[in-house]
Amino acid sequence: MLFSEQTLKRAWQRAGGKCESTRMVGGEKVPCCRDLHWEKHGQLHEAQGWLGHHRVKLANGIIDVAANCEIICRECHRQIQPDGNVLTANQAG
Ligand SMILES: [Zn+2]
Repeated sequence: MLFSEQTLKRAWQRAGGKCESTRMVGGEKVPCCRDLHWEKHGQLHEAQGWLGHHRVKLANGIIDVAANCEIICRECHRQIQPDGNVLTANQAG
């Protein structure tokens, strides 16, 4: 399930239009802060594409609130497993 547009907009404004995730660089987590484009939501083939990522998933569904929506770029999305674990660079291949 996806977030509502209203929730996405709130999260987007909080993020300032940048990726909120962290990336593994040299074994350390650093803020990504990649500049993204609002109109490229879900367009992960685009350099400025992004997604609303669920920080917490519940068994009975999602929590559709901005606090649970993390704006992430396609590069960070690629590093995140469905179970929320972050892959190392080696595992991500
Ligand atoms: Zn990112």
